[in-house]
Amino acid sequence: MLPAEVIAANLYAVEQRIAAACQRAGRARSEVTLVAVSKTFPAEAVTAAFTAGVTDVGENRVQETRDKQPLVSGRGRWHLIGHLQSNKAKDAVRLFDMIQTVDSFALAEKIGRAAESEGKVQDVLVQVNIGRETQKSGAGIDELPDLVDAVKAIAGVRLCGLMAIPPVGLPAEVRGYFRDLRTLRDGLRLEHLSMGMSEDFEAAIEEGSTMVRIGRAIFGSRG
Ligand SMILES: *Cc1c(COP(=O)(O)O)cnc(C)c1O
Repeated sequence: MLPAEVIAANLYAVEQRIAAACQRAGRARSEVTLVAVSKTFPAEAVTAAFTAGVTDVGENRVQETRDKQPLVSGRGRWHLIGHLQSNKAKDAVRLFDMIQTVDSFALAEKIGRAAESEGKVQDVLVQVNIGRETQKSGAGIDELPDLVDAVKAIAGVRLCGLMAIPPVGLPAEVRGYFRDLRTLRDGLRLEHLSMGMSEDFEAAIEEGSTMVRIGRAIFGSRG
């Protein structure tokens, strides 16, 4: 793990770049939430991030989050950004403020039932397979309108927007996927657009992202 002061300095540099991208796009800084992706990094790294002003963190595994959360001091919102198996829906509802990786009606229903039994309304995003990649999780673009309608109707779930991980590609190609996702979000009249990672968050902000998920630029390489 990087020393806490290096994490703070990295965060400051990322913040400057987010602010500059917002300015270029004519957007207010408050329209974009930074989700600091702490997967594989220890609880102390999350504590350092919270201390340095991070408000939202992202994790990709339920088990890792369950182990880590009690060891973190400081509070913030936790986002699940990795694939969720439906048998872990109940744990996910307990651990996360937002589940960004809903990609089927069955999973959304499981989350909704778990949330209701916890007396909670669970914020979720639908993950879209924006590059139509055969190996990747995420809902298909063609099924998206029906899926969104169905998820909206589930009690216990609040559908807040879309999330995607575009295929690896040239900057212009990735930007095209960001644009596609924004067009989908606009057509569905949803609020959030979770897109952009360490390599491409500035382009994502220019294309309308409301949540950038940044790991390595803050916490360092994952070994
Ligand atoms: C790991 C991860 C990120 C962060 O990636 P970095 O390259 O470390 O910024 C963002 N989104 C998802 C879904 C991830 O799994």
